[in-house]
Amino acid sequence: MYRSELETDIQYLPGVGPKRAALLKSELQVSTIGDLIRVYPFRYIDRSSVIRIADILPDTAHVQIQAKVIRCMLMGKGSQVLYLKDLDGTVIGGEEVRFNNVKRLSVIVSDGSGQIELVFFRGIRYTWNRLRPGETFLFFGKPAAFNAQINIVHPEIDAALDPATPTMGSGVMTGVYNSTERLKGAGITGKVMNKLMASALKLTLPEIQETLPEHIIREKGLVPLDYALRNIHFPADQYALQKASYRLKFEELFFLQLSLLKQKYVRSRSEKGIPMPRVGEAFNACFQALPYELTGAQKRVIKEIREDMRSGRQMNRLLQGDVGSGKTMVAVLSALIAIGNGYQACLMAPTEVLAQQHFANIKKYLAPTGVRIELLTGSTKASERRRIHEGLQDGSLGILVGTHALIEDTVIFKNLGLAVIDEQHRFGVEQRARLWNKTTAGIPPHILVMTATPIPRTLAMTLYGDLDISVIDEMPPGRKPIQTLLITERRRPALNKFMRDQIALGHQVFVVYPLIFESEKVDYSNLEKGFERIVEDFPLPQYKVAMVHGKQTNDEKNFNMAAFAAGRADILVSTTVIEVGVDVPNASVMVIESAERFGLSQLHQLRGRVGRGSEHSWCILVKGDKVSKESLKRLELLCSTEDGFVLAEEDMKMRGPGDLEGTQQSGLPITLNIASLAKDGRILADARDYAEGILSRDPLLEDAQNALLVKELRKEKYDRHDYSKIS
Ligand code: ADP
Ligand code: MG
Repeated sequence: MYRSELETDIQYLPGVGPKRAALLKSELQVSTIGDLIRVYPFRYIDRSSVIRIADILPDTAHVQIQAKVIRCMLMGKGSQVLYLKDLDGTVIGGEEVRFNNVKRLSVIVSDGSGQIELVFFRGIRYTWNRLRPGETFLFFGKPAAFNAQINIVHPEIDAALDPATPTMGSGVMTGVYNSTERLKGAGITGKVMNKLMASALKLTLPEIQETLPEHIIREKGLVPLDYALRNIHFPADQYALQKASYRLKFEELFFLQLSLLKQKYVRSRSEKGIPMPRVGEAFNACFQALPYELTGAQKRVIKEIREDMRSGRQMNRLLQGDVGSGKTMVAVLSALIAIGNGYQACLMAPTEVLAQQHFANIKKYLAPTGVRIELLTGSTKASERRRIHEGLQDGSLGILVGTHALIEDTVIFKNLGLAVIDEQHRFGVEQRARLWNKTTAGIPPHILVMTATPIPRTLAMTLYGDLDISVIDEMPPGRKPIQTLLITERRRPALNKFMRDQIALGHQVFVVYPLIFESEKVDYSNLEKGFERIVEDFPLPQYKVAMVHGKQTNDEKNFNMAAFAAGRADILVSTTVIEVGVDVPNASVMVIESAERFGLSQLHQLRGRVGRGSEHSWCILVKGDKVSKESLKRLELLCSTEDGFVLAEEDMKMRGPGDLEGTQQSGLPITLNIASLAKDGRILADARDYAEGILSRDPLLEDAQNALLVKELRKEKYDRHDYSKIS
């Protein structure tokens, strides 16, 4: 019988065996030889590009040096040497090392042309044990100038180049693979990995079959899969590596998009939605009474929503729009379509204050329609609650606005037709799914998720791959720009004067402090010190200062926030809890302390809290003394643009998609092997177009010519991406 090498258990690859196989499985999820060749290097050592230490300049990008360890020093505070070992066998501090008071490891290496210092703040014990004076290693890292000297902080360390390193062909590049302590412990070092890869490829390459349709390969000029696999592990040269990596990224993103889009097609066929053919009188009455003309973007989005709601399929739409772009109006008109067709609607907000604001706003818009609206939150009284429940069940209550209280089991609608969820990322996936079962009508309601967090398109296409996306990319006219300024501590007196002037004009001021989980203690003390200083600079009875932070009870938070919203306090000092939503049109100044510690998107969100009224508004970023060049660049970008999407893209490039506001809480796994959502946006968009093209001709992939794709999609990797119940 024919035996597939690709499917052969990894333990039978020469050099592996059962013990190493178990580790490869647990550490790298590799069970077969075929799995192994899909583990790609994360970087390459170019054996032709080792440079001399004497040639290193502080602004050189990354460098690779091959150098001998001369001296290793474990340092305490400042320049205190606690332990030392060097070439002469000198040992200071004794052989037995206690790492308690060690702050950093400093290693001096030499390659004959010169010496350089390598510095380690992490992994000190491991590195100290590994680097023995007299031994030569390959170091890779970014040089930096420190105290008029050049050093390299946390270089990567590899075994010195060895003419016997396994290669294939004449390539000068060696792949470096992610490893773990346990793998190294079992002898699977970088060199062993190269060896295993070489023999795995030799066995499997003849078996490799193309996974992508021929027309795509041809049109995109992609290299064949076997060529790509060979060159991703053992590149013949830079060019071959580039072609290989492009091909593998394209493949990965193509199948990811194909699986997401297919789920969407399957669902839109099977998940029936409530047909809402009419616009209805309530919609028209509200529309005619609007105090302003809708923006082009609002009109377009309402049209998209209207099409969805009338289609007979369930709407699952994400509405993105910057703060102040007018999403509320879109939600109201959508709700009125549901009402006009004899159904109810609800709107869920993440906080009580926001729910109250939505309620008050929407109520105004509804005045000309006669539609009944109620507010349900955690603090709604029992008698009130009973009235609301009755109204929901007899259908007399049209729109219910509220917080999490909406998804409690006791809340049952007669016929919920639309659920709008504001600021979606504050809700867990599960909570959203519960909305599906809120109705006695039998068919799940249409879902509209609104978010003010601009998510870069590429990320949205993956995170929300099976949702339709609408974007409001136009601001209502007459909105005054927000002037953003970057200042240092030295300008504090001028800032105080500016705040006093604004308050004298009857305006209010936000002051925000960063709160980062790991350093919570320090941050709270900063916040409290900041509060004390502000109370000193802005004393009673002339000035009233309120404070809101995460350690307060909900009642305290609500009380203080409401006091500020109602104008009873001039200044609100807070952590980022105010980030979402609160509308205080009278607030004209947003001061952000230690601005360098926030992400760009987050700063932009915070800034959006002002500029809601018709007055000119300001955002003042106060930066610390020690700010890196990159942080400075980001803050300057914030001063120069108000386009949330530009900022989100930039944020994603710098910090990666995982750190991006809104993705962490989404609870969705993004596991990509080689492509990066942050960097490969173009390839992603391209791959998605191709996937769409194929599915538009064959939505369920039933054609014989697509059998290859179906086979590939069955692989576990793509199966795991089940986002189908995201909302
Ligand atoms: P978002 O929820 O998207 O942050 P809102 O819906 O709260 O924004 O709208 C912000 C402000 O802009 C509100 O005061 C609203 O009345 C106003 N607004 C909305 N649409 C328009 C428009 N087309 N023209 C003028 N003002 C508008
Ligand atoms: Mg809003």
